[in-house]
Amino acid sequence: MSISRLARSIAPSPTFALNEQARMMRERGEPVINMGIGEPKNKTPISAILSSASKLSGGDIKYTPPDGTPSLKKAIIQYTEENYDRVIAPENVIVSSGAKQSIFNILYSILNPQDEVLILAPHWVSYPEMVKMCYGIPVILTPEDGSFVPRMQEIEAAVTSYTKAMIVNSPNNPSGAVFPKELIAEIVDFCERKKIYLIMDDIYHKLVFDGKRAAPAYEFTTKTVEDTMVIVVNGVAKLYGMTGFRIGWVVANRNLVEVMTNVQSQITSCTSALLQAAAEGALVGMQSVVENLRLTFQNNRDIIMQELKTFNGIKAARPDGTFYVLPDFRAYNNNSIELAKFLLDRALVVTVPGKEFGMEGHLRLSYAGTVKDITVAIERIKWALDPNSPNEIYIGDRKLVRDWL
Ligand code: PMP
Repeated sequence: MSISRLARSIAPSPTFALNEQARMMRERGEPVINMGIGEPKNKTPISAILSSASKLSGGDIKYTPPDGTPSLKKAIIQYTEENYDRVIAPENVIVSSGAKQSIFNILYSILNPQDEVLILAPHWVSYPEMVKMCYGIPVILTPEDGSFVPRMQEIEAAVTSYTKAMIVNSPNNPSGAVFPKELIAEIVDFCERKKIYLIMDDIYHKLVFDGKRAAPAYEFTTKTVEDTMVIVVNGVAKLYGMTGFRIGWVVANRNLVEVMTNVQSQITSCTSALLQAAAEGALVGMQSVVENLRLTFQNNRDIIMQELKTFNGIKAARPDGTFYVLPDFRAYNNNSIELAKFLLDRALVVTVPGKEFGMEGHLRLSYAGTVKDITVAIERIKWALDPNSPNEIYIGDRKLVRDWL
């Protein structure tokens, strides 16, 4: 069987692979706690359910325009005005099957083979693979000081004549860092001057804690949406807990949106009419849904930080947003893949190895779950690793004794 070299070189999504492993273990009756997948646990917002149910009961579920239904686009235009203070036209918006497809579509539409895309580590696992799928070259930039926030000098030094785009994700998956507004301002100014596309992955933009705010890139450019290098990606997955609805969107200049629409029309034709109706319902419905999720994650962040504080040798930067934390476990193991496997086997806790995000020696823990899951998971990890913790633990109804430290 002959398979393309490129397709063969693409790594599977580690979060989905781990999620599947956890599901199978749970099916076997093992009390696994999943701190791996980034997924809010709330029920779908009622406005989204009603809107898609009404569409469904009308029985008229057909193709939509490839770039999205006019009414969802209208809701996105309003969202952009309210949250980004930018007045845009329907021609500046394209709806896709999740922010994931939105980002892929952008990359496919802007990259020529060998073009470079700057990715700031720690970074979402999919960016480098998507760049490769579009025959581009991912250039990963890791902050030299070991922090989770890049410095402008490092960014400038990584840019070459092949640099076509840069992806910025703040609040950041996997670190939870929110980049300072001064840095965003410098990045916007730099990209506008150098004519580098600045892809702002804003999928977590409202999940920010302690009264802080994720600075929108648009705030730092005087250029119109037609002239700016800023491209904004958003979606309903994280803010509304609607991961299964697969709706994301891009706001960009109309030439790029037109090209992306042509591309999308040849790949998926359009996103499902039902799911677009659901996303529209979420966007025009009660926005307290988002605030409730934000408050839940802020509370969970406080709890997980409290638990991690009592953990010998672990260093964890306090997240300002998202529902992830990326503690440094090098005191216990430098090899994060080995460590994640060990914790799954011994403590029945799913974590994601930092290596996947360009941060070896760290583990990403998602605190989108329940408070009980968070406290029990950290207690189990502590038991498995920290010799100062009690050497007996109950996992489910089994009493386990640690005999490896
Ligand atoms: N960007 C980032 C940083 C993410 O974490 C995710 C989801 N894990 C996405 C984009 C994709 O979101 P969606 O589910 O809308 O495809």
